[in-house]
Amino acid sequence: MNPLDLSQYPAEPFKIKAVEPVAVISKEMREKAMAEAGYNTFNLRSEDCYIDLLTDSGTNAMSDQQWAGIMIGDEAYAGSRNWLYLESTIKELMGFAHVVPTHQGRGAENILSTIAIKPGQYVAGNMYFTTTRYHQERNGGIFVDIIRDEAHDAGLNVPFKGNIDLKKLENLIKEKGAENIAYICLAVTVNLAGGQPVSMENMRAVREITKKHGVKVFYDATRCVENAYFIKEQEEGYQNKSIKEIVHEMFSYSDGATMSGKKDCITNIGGFLALNDDELFGKAKEIVVVFEGMPSYGGMTGRDMQAMAVGLRESVQDEYIEYRVKQVRYLGNLLLAEKIPIIEPIGGHAVFLDARRFCPHLKQEQFPAQSLAASLYMDSGVRSMERGIVSAGRDPKTGENHMPKLETVRLTIPRRVYTYKHMDVVADSVVRLYKHKEDIRPLKFVYEPKQLRFFTARFAYAD
Ligand SMILES: *Cc1c(COP(=O)(O)O)cnc(C)c1O
Repeated sequence: MNPLDLSQYPAEPFKIKAVEPVAVISKEMREKAMAEAGYNTFNLRSEDCYIDLLTDSGTNAMSDQQWAGIMIGDEAYAGSRNWLYLESTIKELMGFAHVVPTHQGRGAENILSTIAIKPGQYVAGNMYFTTTRYHQERNGGIFVDIIRDEAHDAGLNVPFKGNIDLKKLENLIKEKGAENIAYICLAVTVNLAGGQPVSMENMRAVREITKKHGVKVFYDATRCVENAYFIKEQEEGYQNKSIKEIVHEMFSYSDGATMSGKKDCITNIGGFLALNDDELFGKAKEIVVVFEGMPSYGGMTGRDMQAMAVGLRESVQDEYIEYRVKQVRYLGNLLLAEKIPIIEPIGGHAVFLDARRFCPHLKQEQFPAQSLAASLYMDSGVRSMERGIVSAGRDPKTGENHMPKLETVRLTIPRRVYTYKHMDVVADSVVRLYKHKEDIRPLKFVYEPKQLRFFTARFAYAD
């Protein structure tokens, strides 16, 4: 198969009812805007971006059914019918006993970390996510990465690169003792590893090991539907199962999950925590009223909850998710055809440029991925995001920079927003930059916030 043959990719399983015009500003204006933004793409104005691949978080296009749901929002303070519909949708699709709504994913992470971590306990995960680890550490947890080694090697093309290394898991339990492990946090898919999926076999094995020792497993379910697609496509025995069946089986191996509604639920805001344990659910409800809102809205409006429930049901439709994952793959294949270094295999929500190989003339302390993202914007108005040393932050104890093996620029594709032709424009710009990659310059911090610094940091050229 020729990976560039467009007929190999599914056409959009929708038609377009509303459009949002975009315009590209001149190169001089983009250079000025980037300098004013301190070479941090987070500080740019949306209107100055042509194709916005900063994130797939909350940037999704809702369907007509979701917009119709907005109109039937029940904004009662308590017991909204939209909450009851959302709750029953989550229980039906994921199989959990209890649901706690939150304003977005990190709201759920805050609650879970507060109720399930005792200071000094270990929390092990398949790599980490920025806000997830932040909440774990804020509650006194010690994060341990137990993802398979291959996940840290950007160029290595192996399936299910997001799997937990079972030996690392067993050794951790042996060395630290089950009672000193708060829980295992299993992300499906692994965002920072490049949107890499976890196999059902691995989920089952993690369940068996942890069950033996009485250790709980909570999933970061943010991209669980994309993960399910990879299982259907690549794991023995799942080709004839529906995405809905696969998603349901995945969560049967967990004790609960945090979910950002802004990703696979195809909405613009929202989230939830799902749990099986009655006692933890009781504790979660006590905390949700303090930080989010009543346990029947958790910071969301009735209309948002309705849109999320409808979006969740749409997300598990087989045609939708195949199109979604393959559109991302199309962009990745365009870049591979031009020998651009990216993380392989191509993940479920984004293509990650490997800035180490893209900018071999820059040291990691010179923020190659940050600078590459800035250059990409200045070249074509395409906005992307750094996922490397800046995102990794500093060790809270030593104050030293974390030095992640992966130094990447993430081109994240919003759901149902851009066409295949937009992907061509993005690829052309990346290829153009790669031809003059020596022109990508070193950066230095001029403002470094203490927490989650990548969001608001500012830089200047260091040469
Ligand atoms: C976005 C994201 C979160 C946090 O969710 P928010 O809704 O942004 O708070 C957690 N984990 C993963 C893997 C994510 O991608």
